[in-house]
Amino acid sequence: MRLTRKQILARAGGSLLAVSAAGFSGHAAGAVRADTAGRGKVGRTKYAMAIDTQACLVAKGCTRCLAACHEAHNVPYLQNPAHKIDWIREVPAENAFASQTPSSLAAPRGTPVLVLCNHCDNPPCVHVCPTGATWKRETDGIVMMDWHRCIGCRYCMVACPYGARSFNWVDPRQGIAHPNPDFATRTDGVVEKCTFCSERLEQGQAPACVVACPVKALVFGDVNDPKSEVRKVLESRPAIRRRPELGTGPNVYYLV
Ligand code: SF4
Repeated sequence: MRLTRKQILARAGGSLLAVSAAGFSGHAAGAVRADTAGRGKVGRTKYAMAIDTQACLVAKGCTRCLAACHEAHNVPYLQNPAHKIDWIREVPAENAFASQTPSSLAAPRGTPVLVLCNHCDNPPCVHVCPTGATWKRETDGIVMMDWHRCIGCRYCMVACPYGARSFNWVDPRQGIAHPNPDFATRTDGVVEKCTFCSERLEQGQAPACVVACPVKALVFGDVNDPKSEVRKVLESRPAIRRRPELGTGPNVYYLV
């Protein structure tokens, strides 16, 4: 049976209607779930990112967003691939959308696609953390990390179905050529991941990857705000999310 594009999107849980209903109305203020550390449950602002897979130049070798992220957050470049730390990275489309979504919706097989923490509405990583070192912020939905509380048990890494977290097997400072003095460095034995550039948001700045993109393929903002750019683009274009069938409520969308 040959499916139309609309039918495929509907089955993938990523139609415009699905994005509008599940992404905004259904998860609007009051629907952001409490985390296990009891840090609240209501978020008026809900940050999300939309990645335009048609505009993104990562397939043509552009890595400016990745470099900007590394530079802003003292993410190391380590020689041993087993020690690699990434807050945002590129993976083949068929890996990024390995489950319900035909990868061809986002990009042809083999095409690199950007992936990062989805700042899930219902983050399994938060639920399993025994120390409260990771939690979902009630004010804006960002899933945060406190490296001082992290005991390196890596339960969060096992729980995350998106591989969004990295573990510091070695001292990451050996892989930072020019440390950013305005951002903390980490030590070996802790987990880290994207925080939607919470430190930049506090300064009124957009995430570093968004700013670095030369073609504005990354759109970031509050999806609960009807006037926000991210809300408008998600209302005007079809988008898919990674593994929405898991019920995690990813807040990174892929415009297709
Ligand atoms: Fe947690 Fe993974 Fe969801 Fe990020 S993508 S909030 S690390 S489960």
